[in-house]
Amino acid sequence: MLQQVSKDVIDWAEDKTAEIEQLQKAGNYRREFLANVSHEIKTPISNIQGYISTLLAGGLEDPSVNRDYLLKTEKNIDRLIELVDDLDIISNLESGEVRMEKTRFDFHLLIKEVFAFLEDNAKSVNIKFISGTEDNDPVWVYADRDRIRQVLVNLLENSIKYGRNGGRTKVSVYDMDENYLIEVSDNGIGIEEQHIPRLFERFYRVDKHRSRVEGGTGLGLAIVKHILEAHEQTVNVRSSPKIGTTFSFTLKKG
Ligand code: ADP
Repeated sequence: MLQQVSKDVIDWAEDKTAEIEQLQKAGNYRREFLANVSHEIKTPISNIQGYISTLLAGGLEDPSVNRDYLLKTEKNIDRLIELVDDLDIISNLESGEVRMEKTRFDFHLLIKEVFAFLEDNAKSVNIKFISGTEDNDPVWVYADRDRIRQVLVNLLENSIKYGRNGGRTKVSVYDMDENYLIEVSDNGIGIEEQHIPRLFERFYRVDKHRSRVEGGTGLGLAIVKHILEAHEQTVNVRSSPKIGTTFSFTLKKG
């Protein structure tokens, strides 16, 4: 009897310890997230403040800077909007409340649609998009089309941002029994091996010194991973510095 009681007490204590550890982890997680968010927001805000103050202090009447400072202000505001949009997407996904609205659709058409959407962006750095699928060859998948579109947009945008002028990005599709394996591959700057394990973390960037305005939000790949996990699929990356990077993920056939 006494033995049972003491076992119950030990079990209870173990349960509580695990619970406390979990709460502590969640607390740390929240603190870290808030610290990251405020850090990311601070830079564009203080840039905007700087430009506006200079304009008000006489810059407005100086044609050699006024337009330039307004354009820079606009760029910083765009960045804040991008950040808030990404935060909105990620908090939605992390709440676990959003359901994936799965339908059957042709992935080949989605590739074409996203290529068209990002065409100007790619052209500005002379990057060529190549699709490994053919017009008369539909690739039926079963997934949330809008979310998978977001995955493709994020990966292709990265291939442009971290690509090289005159480079190319290829989207290939491989048949694997129940799934399709999709690869987005670029011949850009690549990623050194030590960064690979942390790449999908929120706010993780390889080049910390990259301008916070030019660079992305550091949330793109975290969003990609969340969306694919909500589809019970995985995403992987392989890369060689100066040679290029390939992201691959699977989608259920439809
Ligand atoms: P960001 O908004 O900074 O692009 P992401 O989460 O999309 O954030 O990517 C995280 C980091 O991974 C980037 O800062 C970049 O250093 C690296 N990265 C992502 N995609 C590529 C790529 N195709 N080639 C090289 N590096 C990449």
